[in-house]
Amino acid sequence: MTVHAGSCHCGAVSFTYRTDAPLAVRECQCSFCRKHGSRNVSDPHGSIEIVARASLTRYRFGLGITDFLICRTCGSYVAAAMGLGEECRSTLNLNCFDDPHVELEPEPVVYDAEDAGDRIERRRQRWTPTRVTEPELGGGTDA
Ligand SMILES: [Zn+2]
Repeated sequence: MTVHAGSCHCGAVSFTYRTDAPLAVRECQCSFCRKHGSRNVSDPHGSIEIVARASLTRYRFGLGITDFLICRTCGSYVAAAMGLGEECRSTLNLNCFDDPHVELEPEPVVYDAEDAGDRIERRRQRWTPTRVTEPELGGGTDA
């Protein structure tokens, strides 16, 4: 397993990403991702641990089924997450990695035609099992 580490700009939100897969970078063309210039990676066989020492903003739009996790202190978009507890899956913004791998060419992807069912199914197959810890929720609480 390769362990990738990263954080938001101010460091209040950090994460580790464990994966055996090469980083396959996607550049989602939705309006949110375009405005952030985000580049995303995920691995359904890997794992993600996100630790927020300050509270996260969970931004939603469109179908309203995704929490875009944004550091409330510095505004960095760290990850997009869906589902609760054991079902939580997310995709990380590669730009927040300690090594953002700027040499990797992203593949543009468009998901506009999906309905909510399509989207949930795709993410179950492609996003990474994730645990989110926020101190104000008592620690160890999944998103
Ligand atoms: Zn921050």
